[in-house]
Amino acid sequence: MAEYERMLDANEEWARDFPGALPVAPARKVAVVACMDSRMPLFPLLGLAVGDAHVIRNAGGVVTDDTIRSLTISQHLLGTREIVLVHHTDCGLQKTDDASFADLVEEATGARPPWPAQAFTDVDEDVRESIRKLRASPFLLSKDVCGTVYDVTTGRLHRVEAD
Ligand SMILES: [Zn+2]
Repeated sequence: MAEYERMLDANEEWARDFPGALPVAPARKVAVVACMDSRMPLFPLLGLAVGDAHVIRNAGGVVTDDTIRSLTISQHLLGTREIVLVHHTDCGLQKTDDASFADLVEEATGARPPWPAQAFTDVDEDVRESIRKLRASPFLLSKDVCGTVYDVTTGRLHRVEAD
């Protein structure tokens, strides 16, 4: 059975107990920017319920133009005011560097990505870099940002202070 078929079956279960419609604006006025890592179930690990928060995910949980686009919509149209960053230990982006990754893709496909992978070595520094990028954005109404790193071996978050 293909994974999507298992997912469609799982959705039948979900819809049977569906709690009903909620307002589009997140109840806790918070947006989470996190890595796409499969070991981080953000709603339970942050104590969030359906309807509480926006969750913006990409490889590394990095702040790209598209992250800023989503946060700008989140704040201006949907009322969020806090941003929580969730990066993590043992990230896939610590296993390469931008040039090697571009080489890998180019060798396999013939096309070199015009965007950097945004690989990193020091995860705390990567969180601080994301905080700096958010604070430098002219589009956000609130720059109330909390940076964290999730330890995939213990399930614990630690906070990273901005510089
Ligand atoms: Zn990751």
